[in-house]
Amino acid sequence: MKTKIIKINPNKPEISKIKTAAKILKQGGLVAFPTDTVYGLGADAFNVYAVKKIFQVKKRLTNKPLIILIANKKTVYKLAKNVSINAKKLINKFWPGPLTIVFKKSKIVPEIITGNLDTVGIRMPDNKIALNLIKEAKTPIVTTSANISGKLSPTCSRHVKQNLNGKIDMIIDGGKTKIGVASTIVDLTKNIPILLRPGSITLKQLKKI
Ligand code: AMP
Ligand code: MG
Repeated sequence: MKTKIIKINPNKPEISKIKTAAKILKQGGLVAFPTDTVYGLGADAFNVYAVKKIFQVKKRLTNKPLIILIANKKTVYKLAKNVSINAKKLINKFWPGPLTIVFKKSKIVPEIITGNLDTVGIRMPDNKIALNLIKEAKTPIVTTSANISGKLSPTCSRHVKQNLNGKIDMIIDGGKTKIGVASTIVDLTKNIPILLRPGSITLKQLKKI
């Protein structure tokens, strides 16, 4: 497969280019794109065939769940079952931004995404290319870092190319990512919130909220 590489202005994304990438996603293709944290590899969250391809090209074990990126806070109510008061507080404070929240999943979230768990990780990224792409695709985008499993998470398109060239449909070059480390992950499905992965949002910041 030939991987198309297109440059998009991270400050003012060219909408025609975003539409081209969104069309690929809608047709079941895979697109790598910048987020605020690291580059993500995305697919239409409701296209099981496309989601399977993510596991294949990354050589990722199928029991390791993927997260879903959304462009509108309200989408969380479609994908998650119980959005607690704590969750709402964290969403209001940290979205869009580098915080992934794990919720009980709603029925519409395919099990292939969650590794058969009844929970789902959701985040709204703070990056214009990512947000516009999700909006134009008109569907939540299942995402994971755009690297082969076990390799470093890519912070520029050149690193994505080294990992995935020839294996995915498109790489969007939107420059270096702002934060450079993967999102903080907090699980809100238990009685006590659990920090699953440290990131740029610290435990201290979370505790404060
Ligand atoms: P990556 O695929 O590199 O972007 O990382 C996504 C991370 O989110 C992985 O470490 C997953 O284990 C974690 N994750 C995704 N969904 C869930 C979930 N439902 N419960 C717990 N961890 C999750
Ligand atoms: Mg990763």
